Amino acid sequence: MSSHKGPVVAQGSGAPAGNREADTVELAELGPLLEEQGKRGVASPTKGGCVFPSFLQAEEEQACPVPQEEEEEVRVLTLPLQAHHAMEKMEEFVYKVWEGRWRVIPYDVLPDWLKDNDYLLHGHRPPMPSFRACFRSIFRIHTETGNIWTHLLGFFALRPVGFVLFLFLGILTMLRPNMYFMAPLQEKVVFGMFFLGAVLCLSFSWLFHTVYCHSEKVSRTFSKLDYSGIALLIMGSFVPWLYYSFYCSPRPRLIYLSAVCVLGISAIVAAQWDRFATPKHRHTRAGVFLGLGLSGVVPTMHFTIAEGFVKATTVGQMGWFFLMAVMYITGAGLYAARIPERFFPGKFDIWFQSHQIFHVLVVAAAFVHFYGVSNLQEFRYGLEGGCTDDSLL
Ligand SMILES: [Zn+2]
Repeated sequence: MSSHKGPVVAQGSGAPAGNREADTVELAELGPLLEEQGKRGVASPTKGGCVFPSFLQAEEEQACPVPQEEEEEVRVLTLPLQAHHAMEKMEEFVYKVWEGRWRVIPYDVLPDWLKDNDYLLHGHRPPMPSFRACFRSIFRIHTETGNIWTHLLGFFALRPVGFVLFLFLGILTMLRPNMYFMAPLQEKVVFGMFFLGAVLCLSFSWLFHTVYCHSEKVSRTFSKLDYSGIALLIMGSFVPWLYYSFYCSPRPRLIYLSAVCVLGISAIVAAQWDRFATPKHRHTRAGVFLGLGLSGVVPTMHFTIAEGFVKATTVGQMGWFFLMAVMYITGAGLYAARIPERFFPGKFDIWFQSHQIFHVLVVAAAFVHFYGVSNLQEFRYGLEGGCTDDSLL
């Protein structure tokens, strides 16, 4: 917001100007933000509009003669008046943004706080200090459209995915008759933790991608929520998995649950660090969340050693959890390395950029995880929750 210092405009005492002048003024001030895609720099002031920044007043007086009475007003422009003009221009800008009259802009004219992936050359939203404009941009095509829709609703293999799917599945599970559970309250809480993690992660994510262009402060706040959401999804995923995998071993179950909580909260604390969201720490972020997810290797080894490989893959559903891990790791790897746009800069600005692939893989992995955990639940239900068989944890 404050990056446009509001050049002073000599056009009367600040009363609403004619449309032509107003447009020229806005282009001069907002420069690249409202320019046609591909154009660079600030629009040249036109003679007819008699628009010029204060620091050009001396030269401009020749090229663009100012009428006698306006000349007087130029001289009396004081600092409060300049501030008043700047506020007016900002209001006009916000009003135009509300009307959806903005165009996508190239990467190199973005302010620093909006610069994230320099392999996406065009199609970026300009800064828009209005939540209404940000939410309306959900329905426009730009670099974030795919990121928003993959976590909001989207389609993957003809199934609705994203926040809406997990909300729906969560409600279905909570409303499932108690007769399908051995310990209905406990099991619903356990599944509820998973759905809470998934719904929070996906909704923080699409919200972040929607309001990311609002302002530096809003972008920073929501990026922290977005990263915290990933940690919540991983923590929530561990809960039903550990609950059913170590159903008859309360002590290791408690230890592993406590460990993932401590690690997850540590990741959330790390995400509150302002620099965590910067492009420079892309690999740090991927590493933190990979590390958190891969901490699941320890209980997996425990289960496999105690029960044997065959039971781990059948009863333990390890095949599904392995697939889930491969999806997360692939997603995180593509995200960190920015593949494929790294190899074809400018070709994946709108669709199929690494972040979108990562989003789809996260949703698919969460779905596979839910499937695996549901199988674990069914198996335990089939045994009537019994812990009599000593070969099963
Ligand atoms: Zn994202």
